[in-house]
Amino acid sequence: MAIYRDQRRVVASMSKAFDPVLRSGAQVRYEGIYACISCGAEIALSAGRLIPSKPNVPHAPGCPDGGWQLVVATSGPERQPRT
Ligand SMILES: [Zn+2]
Repeated sequence: MAIYRDQRRVVASMSKAFDPVLRSGAQVRYEGIYACISCGAEIALSAGRLIPSKPNVPHAPGCPDGGWQLVVATSGPERQPRT
């Protein structure tokens, strides 16, 4: 799970940019931290990079690699704080 120390440096967002579940090999649109929806493994990717294949990421043993979702964006999606 992503961890932060200073909440002044992060903001909640309701952007749909966090919705898609991406498969290994997919190109990411947003720079940030992505998490495996099956085991919670996290990776950081720059915009335009490809989600790496299973042998190259730290999945939990036996993880079926169900896909990846954007967890923390460092640039890209508009910032829409929760109300
Ligand atoms: Zn996994």
